[in-house]
Amino acid sequence: MLPASSSVNPRSSAAPLPCESAGTVAGSSDWQTELNTAIRDPHHLCHVLRLPTSWANAAVRASRHVPLLVPWSYLSRIRVGDPGDPLLRQILPIDEELREVRGFTADPVGDTSSKRTAGLLQKYSGRALMITAGACAVHCRFCFRRHFAYQEALPADASGEFALAEIAADTSLEEIVLSGGDPFVLPDDRLAKLLVQLSQVPHIKRVRIHTRLPIMIPQRVTGELLDGLSGLRLDPVVVVHCNHPSELDGHVRTALVSLVARGILVFNQSVLLRGVNDDFATLAALSRRLLECRVVPYYLHQLDRVAGAAHFEVPVERGRQLICQLRDALPGYAVPRYVRENAGEASKTPLA
Ligand SMILES: *Cc1c(COP(=O)(O)O)cnc(C)c1O
Ligand code: SF4
Repeated sequence: MLPASSSVNPRSSAAPLPCESAGTVAGSSDWQTELNTAIRDPHHLCHVLRLPTSWANAAVRASRHVPLLVPWSYLSRIRVGDPGDPLLRQILPIDEELREVRGFTADPVGDTSSKRTAGLLQKYSGRALMITAGACAVHCRFCFRRHFAYQEALPADASGEFALAEIAADTSLEEIVLSGGDPFVLPDDRLAKLLVQLSQVPHIKRVRIHTRLPIMIPQRVTGELLDGLSGLRLDPVVVVHCNHPSELDGHVRTALVSLVARGILVFNQSVLLRGVNDDFATLAALSRRLLECRVVPYYLHQLDRVAGAAHFEVPVERGRQLICQLRDALPGYAVPRYVRENAGEASKTPLA
């Protein structure tokens, strides 16, 4: 645990920095303010975290393809003045991103070829994935969708009529995965409308939401969101994405527990990341902390080989060793499934 004094508290910073006030809409709820005021300027970030200007300059260069984006609520969990902080490493652009590495490509998991219609991908039996939003609350530097053409994949019509018609016509589908981007960046009324439309398709039994928002901006889990998710004919499943135990502070725990308290199954997926969570102590602490948050560790993903993320890769042999160590130390349900996604295969491929 970090001493409180070592982290950033935006509310107590003396004078607001220029871009801090941008985009705040009167009447918007807390989470929307958090989204709108997220830090986008590397110099601002490095100033707040007391990192050298040379790091900010590198971040400006490296963010050419994928800009920096990090909300204050996540920033407050990053240690000030620590260039090795595992949360910082997930969001700070560095020069390594610009290095071309053989085998690391723009669409490593074959998303482009699994497109069924605008806004709908299907790779696996019974489950189709709906692209519901092009935006995220954060730009994770290792993201496999860094080069994905969201605007092309997004439904032409904002309500996703094409995708819904395709879902309604295919009785082999029983689960819809809402992904993006991050479905929880949608306002509550848009999300509620989509959930109702899906629940009107008789063969759909479950709706699964893949989101990093409860981790990044825990205020997103509002009463209205909980009502929208739990009042459905469909069984809701939420899969959050957290890579390090320091991401799971008290606010995040409260948000996650409130989902579980509404009868929602909550799972976590992580990506195995060099310099973030590629050691036994961190992964064990992550599983234990997830259980304290009532969340089941579901997947530990081998990094998708996306261009710009090679510096995050951990060898599969090392990943297997780590899983063996976790099995020796933790209950079976606290050991995530170590998997890789291979384009064209019928499921994620188990690696251990
Ligand atoms: C990972 C993924 C799913 C869900 O797979 P599970 O193994 O059921 O978690 C569904 N659709 C797509 C396109 C995926 O990449
Ligand atoms: S939240 Fe998920 S989809 Fe968005 S940038 Fe991070 S890893 Fe990628």
